[in-house]
Amino acid sequence: LDKAYSFMIRIRVPGGVATPQQWLETDRIATQFANGTIKLTTRQAFQFHGIIKSNLKRSIAEINQAAMDTIAACGDVNRNVMCNPNPYLSSVHAQALKIAQDISTHLTPQTKAYHEIWLDGEKIESSEEDHEPIYGKTYLPRKFKITVAVPPSNDVDIFANCLSFIAIAEEGQVVGYNVAVGGGMGSTHGDEATYPRLADVIGFCTPEQVVDVAEKVVMIQRDFGDRTNRKHARFKYTVDDHGADWILAKLNEYLGYELQPVREYVFTDNGDRFGWVEDERGQFHYTMFVEGGRVLDTDDYPMRTGLREIAKHHQGDFRLTANQNLIIANVSPESRPEIEKLLEQYGIKGSHLRSGLRLSSIACVALPTCGLALAESERYLPKLITNLEETIEDAGLRHDSITIRMTGCPNGCGRPFISEIGFVGRGPERYNVYLGGGHAGQRLNKLYRQDVAAGEIQQLLSPILHRYAKERNEGEHFGDFVIRSGYVAATKQGGDFHSN
Ligand code: SF4
Repeated sequence: LDKAYSFMIRIRVPGGVATPQQWLETDRIATQFANGTIKLTTRQAFQFHGIIKSNLKRSIAEINQAAMDTIAACGDVNRNVMCNPNPYLSSVHAQALKIAQDISTHLTPQTKAYHEIWLDGEKIESSEEDHEPIYGKTYLPRKFKITVAVPPSNDVDIFANCLSFIAIAEEGQVVGYNVAVGGGMGSTHGDEATYPRLADVIGFCTPEQVVDVAEKVVMIQRDFGDRTNRKHARFKYTVDDHGADWILAKLNEYLGYELQPVREYVFTDNGDRFGWVEDERGQFHYTMFVEGGRVLDTDDYPMRTGLREIAKHHQGDFRLTANQNLIIANVSPESRPEIEKLLEQYGIKGSHLRSGLRLSSIACVALPTCGLALAESERYLPKLITNLEETIEDAGLRHDSITIRMTGCPNGCGRPFISEIGFVGRGPERYNVYLGGGHAGQRLNKLYRQDVAAGEIQQLLSPILHRYAKERNEGEHFGDFVIRSGYVAATKQGGDFHSN
């Protein structure tokens, strides 16, 4: 008998938009092959957990039959391209989403190996170089992450990604995109040569140039990324080693034309806006809170069943947010009463009436599913927030949005180093605590206390939260307050992440 190995499968969802039919198929596969839950990831993808080895191939085949795939959801290539799901500006979002999908298609590996292995495709004799005009024979030194954002929302965290495009819109039309390079989260405990880094905004391109710019930036990383040290192989180190000016000059050279100067933009936050909104065309969108991105049924909250029923009736689409939440998008005025009824019936309505702290939380999957986890995350953060909510209620901060993120290790899948309060697992029930990230994801945080026992976190943070409630300036965010009050120094860029 073979051992009952169990696997994770990640479905690529470019821009985070899925049709109701794809939702129903995802739901069915979760029941049939996985552990009966769907994880919405921080990169707007679906994950299935607990797929046993003998079901792996059939699961992937059925995912492909549902017009989705898993190619490039892992590996040293471009990953799922994220796109801000902004429901307020649907025409701008539609343009940004199209760009995200075009980038994704253009940078999808051409190799036929995926089809040969997983879909019983016919074996084709040719070299990888023939297959991969962009990646070449050796692909990239490490994975590569791209986002597209529509200000003022930075929910895709453009400063935490290798390459991002910031939409600049005028009168409902996207006139072009600012280009940001060299962000990234991952680091290693105890190794100061590794650090999170904020992306640099280096120029502006027209919508027609975006795919070309994405291709050339990927080629620069292919040609100049470090292939000798995997811990130094992400694009952020290439940008740091050579400097953003060098990257811009090299990019202009590869493009054969020059990027224009950066255009003005403002990000106000990196969270989601919950509840119903009506867009400029009169369509409605409902953003619901999904704690830790885990879609499941419990005895008192049949969320997964409710979403399945909604998908059976919904004519619009589902949008996964980069904060692990879900938008039931493009609901017509005529369909809204029916969707409202289902939201009510399954207890989803009001999912967003939680504390501002909880609504601003992200947890990576960590234990028991991720083999790299040093500590709990998805299973522990909700409990920690429940404890912190005592303080929050006491201090009168229930409705304040403070970004709080936890990961089970410093790889940083939940982007913890850019949150106002961050926890990164060090070992069982022990975390490093970081403070001072920018509320719009524009500033890295800083280590406040190392190796704190889980049971001591509330005691550690309560006095700071109380002081924030009493002493903050008008409109001052928690991340800014802890710097002004001297709890931590501001981290200006990745290079000073480890200094005090
Ligand atoms: Fe796993 Fe670490 Fe990523 Fe969490 S941050 S999912 S523990 S690799």
